[in-house]
Amino acid sequence: MFVLRNWRLNMFGGGFLRISRYSLNNVGRQLSEHLCLLNVDARFYKLKCHSYANFAAFKCWNCQTVVDTSVPRLFCKNCSLIQSSEQQNFNYFELFNICEQYDIDVRQLTLNFRNLQNRLHPDKFSNKSKEEKILSESFSSLLNKAYTTLVNPLLRGLYMLNVNGLNIEEGSVTMDPSFLGEIMEWNEQVEEANTKESLENLKQNIDVILINLYKEISKAFNDNNLNEAKTLLSKAKYYSTLLEKIKEIDVQ
Ligand SMILES: [Zn+2]
Repeated sequence: MFVLRNWRLNMFGGGFLRISRYSLNNVGRQLSEHLCLLNVDARFYKLKCHSYANFAAFKCWNCQTVVDTSVPRLFCKNCSLIQSSEQQNFNYFELFNICEQYDIDVRQLTLNFRNLQNRLHPDKFSNKSKEEKILSESFSSLLNKAYTTLVNPLLRGLYMLNVNGLNIEEGSVTMDPSFLGEIMEWNEQVEEANTKESLENLKQNIDVILINLYKEISKAFNDNNLNEAKTLLSKAKYYSTLLEKIKEIDVQ
């Protein structure tokens, strides 16, 4: 018995073909099947936006039909039952069928989110089997997490770093002392603010700084300068924490 999930084909990353635990006799047939599926999905799925595509497959938990996961699969084409998100290797951008880049069309993201949310909402599965209920809850919670991440410019950038194997955890970025001095000053101003107006003013000033930082982050990602993106995202995190601090202050 062969394990289809171990079959991987990566052909857009430079024509590299890797096939494991799979007899060569089956390769041609499977390849043509996958390319056929690729053609079918091409109209729906903007493959050109992605630098590579991972082809993988698993069997539907209900009818055992092979489910192709070159694009996120919500339902089995054969029995129409909901599939497991955990068995699929898609990232958040692929889930929403949007280009994997920092500048996104938030309106399109939200539209696609609502559409998927509508199809996967646990309420729609209230009369279904226990397995379907569990899968819809899990898919739905992933969907919410993915949307919350991509819709937020800071979280989106951090997620993109993460996809590239980087993060801004403590100690991984050295901030220059002048920047840290600036943040200390902002902190003092926030602590000293004692009216709604003064806090609102601070908030507006920090908002402007963040908007400019997000523009720089976008440029860094477009230039594929991940180290720069990492430093800028660390700065944005400091300012975002200041905003949270302002939100928490309760003044009359
Ligand atoms: Zn099925």
